Amino acid sequence: LSTLAGRTALVTGGSRGIGRGICERLAADGALVAVHYASNDAAAADTVATIEAAGGQAFPVRAELGVDGDADAVIDAVEAGLRARTGHARLDILVNNAGIDDSDGGIGSETRKAFDRLFAVNVRAPFFLIQRALPLMGDGGRIINISSGVTRIALPGELAYAMTKAALETLTRNVANEVGSRGITINTVAPGPTRTDKTAFVFDRPEMQAVVAAGQAIERVGRPADIANVVAFLAGPDSAWLTANTIDATGGSYLG
Ligand code: NDP
Repeated sequence: LSTLAGRTALVTGGSRGIGRGICERLAADGALVAVHYASNDAAAADTVATIEAAGGQAFPVRAELGVDGDADAVIDAVEAGLRARTGHARLDILVNNAGIDDSDGGIGSETRKAFDRLFAVNVRAPFFLIQRALPLMGDGGRIINISSGVTRIALPGELAYAMTKAALETLTRNVANEVGSRGITINTVAPGPTRTDKTAFVFDRPEMQAVVAAGQAIERVGRPADIANVVAFLAGPDSAWLTANTIDATGGSYLG
């Protein structure tokens, strides 16, 4: 299937974890993918090389999010990369995937420093990336924000992180109303427990796998491809009538 042939995509935090899964899937579906990352050049190069070895097209974009000028740095580099490869700077798909969960605890122990950093990376950066990306998008454009099941499930110590993801879901609904007339859709995907570099130290432990499975309707830890499959649908032509949604992609976490 080449449902995304001729399309272009930007995936933030695309070099590792869930973002890497999304990059590989969108490229396999035919898109030219800008693989954004913060600082790990080797991981980004490996993701691009893997996509190219499979016959896809990708290029790396390095820029830290959560700092002044972050969205400008990303979009300027994406525009240049697209022009160099396609002769135009049309961006069809924006996936706001990069996010951090470096909280200092719940209401009793959270610090202003950690709180501000969480909001800068998880909320301010996607907000201004969308602002900068919209002029590059046309009819059929797709924006997909990666949230988390913790907006539905109150997990201890995840308060400020969960609040950032709730803000993304609100951003999605509001922006949907502004861009629908241009044929652009925007949706949110909320993953549950997913094995990535960051979470492997937890989810590779058999006792933790059992704990996770006990709380899941589908009794296992998620994989990046589980999320990438949902994102691919939202990025493709069959989702044109879906906008302003938050898709629960937790595999049924804590349904009661
Ligand atoms: P990872 O930490 O594994 O993602 C790493 C990627 O994000 C790398 O490309 C990394 O770049 C980039 N990145 C991290 N911080 C920044 C930053 N400040 N600026 C720019 N790039 C950055 O994350 P996951 O794959 O686990 O999560 C992806 C998304 O899914 C996040 O939004 C997360 O909140 C959400 N999520 C994850 C769940 C899980 O269980 N894993 C569950 C629910 C939601 P580099 O390598 O260069 O540092």
